[in-house]
Amino acid sequence: MLDFDPASQPAPNGHFINGKLDTGISQSLPVHRPSDGKAFTEIPVADSETVDHAVGSALGAYRRTDWARQAPRNRALVLCRWADLVDDHCIELAQLEALGSTRPIAQAAGWDVPYLAKTIRFFAELADKHGGEVAATADSQLGFTLTEPYGVVAAIAPWNFPLVMAGWKLAPALAAGNAVVLKPSELTPLSVVRLAQLAVEAGVPPGIFNVIQGDGKQSGEALCRHPGVSKITFTGSTATGAAIMAASAASGIKPMTLELGGKSPQIVFHDADPDLAARCVARGILGNAGQVCVAGSRLIVHRRLRDEVVERTAALMSQVSPGPTWHEATGFSPIISRKQYDRVDRIVKSTIGQGAEPLIGNREMEGFDGGAFYAPTILTGVTGEMDAARKEVFGPVLTVQDFEDEEEGLMLADHPEYGLAAGLYTKDLSRALRAVRHLEVGTIWVNRYGRSEDLIIPTGGYKRSGIGKDLGRQAFEANLQTKSALIEIGT
Ligand code: ADP
Repeated sequence: MLDFDPASQPAPNGHFINGKLDTGISQSLPVHRPSDGKAFTEIPVADSETVDHAVGSALGAYRRTDWARQAPRNRALVLCRWADLVDDHCIELAQLEALGSTRPIAQAAGWDVPYLAKTIRFFAELADKHGGEVAATADSQLGFTLTEPYGVVAAIAPWNFPLVMAGWKLAPALAAGNAVVLKPSELTPLSVVRLAQLAVEAGVPPGIFNVIQGDGKQSGEALCRHPGVSKITFTGSTATGAAIMAASAASGIKPMTLELGGKSPQIVFHDADPDLAARCVARGILGNAGQVCVAGSRLIVHRRLRDEVVERTAALMSQVSPGPTWHEATGFSPIISRKQYDRVDRIVKSTIGQGAEPLIGNREMEGFDGGAFYAPTILTGVTGEMDAARKEVFGPVLTVQDFEDEEEGLMLADHPEYGLAAGLYTKDLSRALRAVRHLEVGTIWVNRYGRSEDLIIPTGGYKRSGIGKDLGRQAFEANLQTKSALIEIGT
């Protein structure tokens, strides 16, 4: 039985710097439970002094300990021990996640936490499987490259999958030998504190993984601006990604991995299996109530299959099981905040004002005192210029557009700004490959929607959906810089 009582769930709260929980609060922010809207705790807001302390601790640990310099196999073993501790504390971490985020306990315990442990293990295993190269030079010289960590990596995480997103950032940075200062979202700040405590318990030296709490404007920007930070990795909205680039450019030059917004199409060609397509489309927009960067929010379907696919998708989208995230039976997530709920509703209403028709949804789900649950919504009669087809909604809202031939389908799928992911449904391999080549997106799924646990496959955006990759070898390599050496041997 995974049900728990949120009122009696203990949660470590505060900054975690140099291996110690700092519970002192000068300036604070309330934290609300999305399931019932209750403010259940307050977090401290890191000011520039706290950020300086955290970055200084990270830099000190990076220089003082042998984290970066030891045999990389040893670092891998420590990280694997950490992954084991994550598995051992699965229920506790899942409860912390479910307490204050949109992740239902059954999903957090069944997927988020085990996936986090797998992510840590995957990157740990890369720690001793890379290196530079020896260059082709004259025999009288030796030219070679070394790959080395950056030093301190600032990681800024979003609220939609707090532990999983933190893991995507932390694991490659730490495996490559860096120290990290992580700022979780102020909306979902707690679970990563416990994760940091477990890292120290596993043998990660104090100071190598720090957490600071706070908002974006003050704490996040101060972290990005800090001269002690050598690299930034961020997941969140495109607007915030741009603000982070500006803040860091103002204080120096820092490489970045940015995973930003999306407006991903689901293209159903006339030769698709309509049942498979409907199941994938429904799943692709219902997961975490659409609060997923790769949510498949635009159904682009061939006219011949349109009615059948829309009808089947609508039936599936009408069968969700909303509820508090601390109930095991809950399958459908609340919206993170009333503010975000209002944004979802505003975009739906304005799209209807622009001529779209709501087939299902377009309303609040009843019976959830304080929580904001948006009913799964399908909008038909949509054109590419309408708000819900253009803007990232971050809610369970699916728009429908139809097409007659392949070229038109692919044209509708292209988004002027975003290029994060796309789904394709067809039985024709050549058509699928043509589409894979054509679409300007970073990730394409054919006859499925969503990542597998093959973490070797990188993910990230084209266009304004981001820079660089999470997961895969690329995410690991992005946490290393290359040094070249040329030696005169003499003759
Ligand atoms: P959303 O818009 O989806 O709520 P954001 O992209 O604004 O999310 O936020 C994601 C993360 O970025 C959060 O941890 C937030 O505190 C942080 N953040 C927001 N604004 C800034 C900023 N100007 N500089 C640095 N971090 C920021």
